Amino acid sequence: MPPTLRGRLAPSPTGAQHVGNARTYLIAWLAARSKGAGVILRMEDIDSPRIKPAAAEQAIDDLRWLGLDWDGDPIVQTTRLARYEAVLDRLKRQDLVYPCICTRSDIAAAASAPHAEHEGPNYPGTCAHRSVADAGTLAAMGRPFAWRFRANESPPFVDEFCGDVWVDRAQSGGDFVVWKSAGSPAYQLAVVVDDAEMGVTEVIRGDDLIPSTPRQILLYQSLGWTPPRFAHVPLVVGEDGRRLAKRHGDTRLAALRDAGVKAESLIGLLAWSCGWLEKPEPITPTELIPLYRLEAIPHRPCMLTPALLRGIGYS
Ligand code: GLU
Repeated sequence: MPPTLRGRLAPSPTGAQHVGNARTYLIAWLAARSKGAGVILRMEDIDSPRIKPAAAEQAIDDLRWLGLDWDGDPIVQTTRLARYEAVLDRLKRQDLVYPCICTRSDIAAAASAPHAEHEGPNYPGTCAHRSVADAGTLAAMGRPFAWRFRANESPPFVDEFCGDVWVDRAQSGGDFVVWKSAGSPAYQLAVVVDDAEMGVTEVIRGDDLIPSTPRQILLYQSLGWTPPRFAHVPLVVGEDGRRLAKRHGDTRLAALRDAGVKAESLIGLLAWSCGWLEKPEPITPTELIPLYRLEAIPHRPCMLTPALLRGIGYS
């Protein structure tokens, strides 16, 4: 029997969902539904200091407003901490991780090479000589430490949208944190454990996450799991070509909705930006299923201008 296909929507409730998030969710949802695949909704809420109370509920309302659906109840990462810990233990037993006492500023001070925004500076390997057994001594000394994965390589991968991708090891950040010193799992570990255990076969996300993918593939390989198919799609940017932010005006989905914008109008605008419609016109995600083509999406960032927003009744 062929494996069941499954995609996912994975909002981080660190703030409000905006038009850029909506475009990625729409693509991810259509990629799954157009193949008859399931879709799960996973709240990525482990990044505790940045999580905003109420943002998870708001994200669910936003997704429903857009007309996207999912199978089963939302899955919440903070209810799965024991799973991540079990996998960290496996990595410790395999000697693939080491305790690291470096602080962010230690690493920033040691960094010389330019680095990918998402990944932080390249880790210089200061603690790489440590072994799993050193963790006990550090704990006894009261030294906080993170767990870092020994990333000896940066595996190339085939991206369903971008084609062949290879991220230089220096750009993907070198040895990476899988467990933070504050005692919680890092994104790289949680996302791999979740996608693998939840049977996710289609990962469609923003191309800002490309430098994370080689790291995640290393984790899949170490754990003996099959990686999903990855497609990284361009982000939405403002008129200055920079990632959507406050300076580009209020592009929160809740703000559009409160201003009376119809979800179908926004979906139509996004569908046009993806090359599935000749012009922006109201349409639902379900109506887009037969029109969806990943290859029609332009390979440049999607520029959201005030004029485009005015066109859907938002100014
Ligand atoms: N939760 C992440 C975000 O909202 C997405 C992570 C992923 O798709 O792997 O940016």
